[in-house]
Amino acid sequence: MSEANKPLVVALDYDDLETTLRLVDQLDPATVRLKVGKQLFTRVGPPVVQQLVQREFDVFLDLKFHDIPNTVAHAVAAAADLGVWMVNVHASGGSNMMRAARDALGNRPDRPLLTAVTVLTRMADEDLEEVGFRGVAVDRVLALAKLAAEAGLDGVVCSAHEATRLRGVMASNFSLVTPGIRLSGDAAGDQKRIVDPVEALRCGADYLVMGRSITGADNPRQVVEAIISSLQDV
Ligand code: C5P
Repeated sequence: MSEANKPLVVALDYDDLETTLRLVDQLDPATVRLKVGKQLFTRVGPPVVQQLVQREFDVFLDLKFHDIPNTVAHAVAAAADLGVWMVNVHASGGSNMMRAARDALGNRPDRPLLTAVTVLTRMADEDLEEVGFRGVAVDRVLALAKLAAEAGLDGVVCSAHEATRLRGVMASNFSLVTPGIRLSGDAAGDQKRIVDPVEALRCGADYLVMGRSITGADNPRQVVEAIISSLQDV
């Protein structure tokens, strides 16, 4: 792992700015990136993103847009204006929606990476069947990843379990962002398809999204440092 890669992305799933900054103040933008998702963004709004960007963190705005192409295009443009490093949409929104989002970002040199959610890592095969998909999760992930690549997206959000399969078929610069990571010894929580950070990188993941293993720890900074050092030799 090189420092330039900074694979660890800490999910700031909090309800207010004060608690968020209490954690962020313990972290270094040279070694970790941050993720702002629906919970924090809905509570605090754009100012939280602006504060993190101001502190020189790379911010992944994880709002998983899924709407008509015109609306999603304007939403990702708004994310780019906030100065985020990565923004995402749902691949199941289809190619027209993904292409509109990609076009809205244009070719500005500082444009955010645009990634697509394939299958939420908490969905097991039986959950997928319940919403009308018959088959195994990995097949759906592969099909959606190909659709995203064809639409010009930079990568996908997927489970580390699928990363190995995707690495074999997708271009090497197609980013794989993997949530559902747990430290060995942690409770799985509501994530059904989980792996540890070292295993996820070995599977071909580029970015590891980790929330509760870090935010729920007594000493989050120590946990972050331990994770980063465990990834040095991978
Ligand atoms: O706490 P935990 O490590 O499970 O946090 C996972 C984070 O990753 C949450 O912010 C959740 O919204 C996000 N996630 C995601 N895509 C998935 C599954 C989880 O972005 N497919």
